[in-house]
Amino acid sequence: MSNIEIPLSVNTNSRPSDLRITDIRFTDIVDAPMHCTLMKIYTNQGLVGLGEVRDGASRTYAEMLKSRILGENPCEIDKIFRRIKQFGGPARQAGGVCGIEIALWDLAGKAYGVPVYQMLGGKFRNKIRIYCDTDVSGKHTGKDMGEALKKRMEMGFTFLKMDLGIGILHNEKGALCAPLGFLQEPQENWEKNKGDDPLVKKYARNRNYDYYNIAHPFTGIHITEKGFDILEQYVADVRSVIGYEIPLAIDHFGHICVEDCIKLCRRIEKYNIAWAEDLIPWQYTDQYVRLRNSTTVPICTGEDIYLKEGFKPLFEKGGLSVIHPDLLSSGGILENKKIGDMAQDYGVAMAIHMAESPVTCMAAVHSVAATENFLALENHSVDVDWWDDIVIRSGSNGKLVQNGYISVSDKPGLGIDDYNDEVLKEHLNPKFPELWASTDMWNDEWSHDRVWS
Ligand SMILES: [Mg+2]
Repeated sequence: MSNIEIPLSVNTNSRPSDLRITDIRFTDIVDAPMHCTLMKIYTNQGLVGLGEVRDGASRTYAEMLKSRILGENPCEIDKIFRRIKQFGGPARQAGGVCGIEIALWDLAGKAYGVPVYQMLGGKFRNKIRIYCDTDVSGKHTGKDMGEALKKRMEMGFTFLKMDLGIGILHNEKGALCAPLGFLQEPQENWEKNKGDDPLVKKYARNRNYDYYNIAHPFTGIHITEKGFDILEQYVADVRSVIGYEIPLAIDHFGHICVEDCIKLCRRIEKYNIAWAEDLIPWQYTDQYVRLRNSTTVPICTGEDIYLKEGFKPLFEKGGLSVIHPDLLSSGGILENKKIGDMAQDYGVAMAIHMAESPVTCMAAVHSVAATENFLALENHSVDVDWWDDIVIRSGSNGKLVQNGYISVSDKPGLGIDDYNDEVLKEHLNPKFPELWASTDMWNDEWSHDRVWS
């Protein structure tokens, strides 16, 4: 008999085979900098799984799934995911399905006492490269943007992204061409929104919702040569500050047609762009192929695509060089790894969109730790000084992002103990003023959902 003590692989407080889901509850916070719906899935053994609905989405997407998961064993992740995935869709519509999926992984990890990445096949790396989005607010010149990006570099970031789009051309005479009056419509709608009549306000908000959902080929907006000159100079000025040795991705170009996207990409090729993101809607596969074949700027999309099936046509037809899924839209931790692995087969790299709390950030960390073709993970909250305090991570030393990287956690599950209610209370969404309120009204919601007969 050996006297070597064998560590137990299973949490002694948990009997995984008997684990059952008993409840799901939410807390909504604002200014993180996004509106985030945080989630907890409760079990009959005291274990609690942490999840989250996608940034800016409605908690209803998750609430309506409660009746479909009550009583289930949360360790049966793929089985539950396949049951509920019919209730997801592109972008925010996927938030409920994906948020539950990451909470199930947290529970399974806590039940069996292993980190999530290990259940995905193990890790390719010990630390995850982070990049932070840098928007144009207050940075209307390339020099200003360059200085803002340089500060990111001084914080240790090794990969950069900035916004560059037609927004900075709106006040430049002769830089944009559009049906006369079209560019002024949103402002006119916001003016109407200032009245006291709630119906008028809702009507105005919906008009702007419709306006901003006009797909790129149908806006009729074009950039003039003067406009292209301004945008090119902006990028040149940024590079003159940050140099050419650090990758620089670009996002938020505006709703312009593929022909203008091609012209713009050709203008900025010489500034060594890491990728150009979401130039046109991801649904237009053939336009993506045309775009990618017309420029040497690597073409990227993905933060609004749901499930691997959504990415497949773009891979098969050769429309992309980089994908950029968000775990709370792509399908969660496992589906995201499958998407990354499929991308790798086509020689496509994977970066990750992430604008949510540390829970989703850590879900992404585990997923990409276990995916080989990973480039960089986004963090939208570098300038939010209370972001780390949204959660409690016992035994951790300091901030999650350190010197441009996040260390892969070896703690069970996602590596987060709990949400920090004291901090959440200070940032509650006033429309949802109660923390972890009862969701009993969703216990019996049901319909005879099946996608075939
Ligand atoms: Mg983006």
